[in-house]
Amino acid sequence: VPIVVARNGEGPTVLLSSGNHGNEYEGQIILRNLISTLDAKKIRGRLIVLPGLNAPAVRAGRRVSPLDGGNLNRLFPGSTNNGPTSAIAGFVTQHLLPLCEFGLDFHSGDPSSCYLPCAFLTTCSDSSLHEQNVAAAEVFGADHTYVVEGWSAKPSFDANAHRLGVSFISTELGGGGGTTPETLSVGKRGLDRVLDWLGVMPASHLVPCASTTFLDGMHPESCVTAPADGIFEPCVALGEQVVDGQIAGYIHIAWEPGLTREVLFQSSGIVAVMRRTASVKAGNYLFTVTPELDRKAVLRMSGRIDPT
Ligand SMILES: [Zn+2]
Repeated sequence: VPIVVARNGEGPTVLLSSGNHGNEYEGQIILRNLISTLDAKKIRGRLIVLPGLNAPAVRAGRRVSPLDGGNLNRLFPGSTNNGPTSAIAGFVTQHLLPLCEFGLDFHSGDPSSCYLPCAFLTTCSDSSLHEQNVAAAEVFGADHTYVVEGWSAKPSFDANAHRLGVSFISTELGGGGGTTPETLSVGKRGLDRVLDWLGVMPASHLVPCASTTFLDGMHPESCVTAPADGIFEPCVALGEQVVDGQIAGYIHIAWEPGLTREVLFQSSGIVAVMRRTASVKAGNYLFTVTPELDRKAVLRMSGRIDPT
């Protein structure tokens, strides 16, 4: 697992990672560019950079490890005797996170899907830590911040860091198996702002950002799925505001020209995730619709317990 550590003087220790899923690329590019331009003299504290965290998955260009099928972000806190993917999680949990004041893990949509480029906030039960995480997401400054509750993401890197008292956020920067100048820019500018805010790498110039809009990623009716096998024709784009009952798209039945199935949204909100690939099977997800959350509602989400 590649790791770069740069330290200079007094200041916080910050962990930056990408390649938790090997086929999500924005963060992998952003952190490799950071490493190749890093000037240790400009650091105040310590940066720990892991640009290809699940290294076997990164080398294979896959979401999970080809060695043991391990999905790293579902294996925290990990252990030293349960296969190579769990061992990576265990190393990070036991040896790196205890050193850190803050962490940022870059994700994107997988090759079949694209996210609205956003910060990704997992809530936690410690209200002051949650407030720090909300502030970090606001400093990151993407137009949107996708919010999920910690009880739904227990084995994730984020929830594991929170359990250890480390302020931690992640991202979903785009995806679809590639990158765009826009999604890379959202990630790079956000990283620069966060490193400046933490004081670990003060910037001489920062691109200003508007306030972020929080999106509720826990809305149960938010996921629209394909009603049949076929070819998916979307009628709306990522980031559009949609309403309950609106036509989301069509599934063209591949072997029956002229036969289509209409797909409707079942909730209102902003389209935060959408399918990229046209070939679908019945039950494949097509869209995730997320209602907006105001800041006070996000802060109140700390401490909610597992309803199951
Ligand atoms: Zn991911």
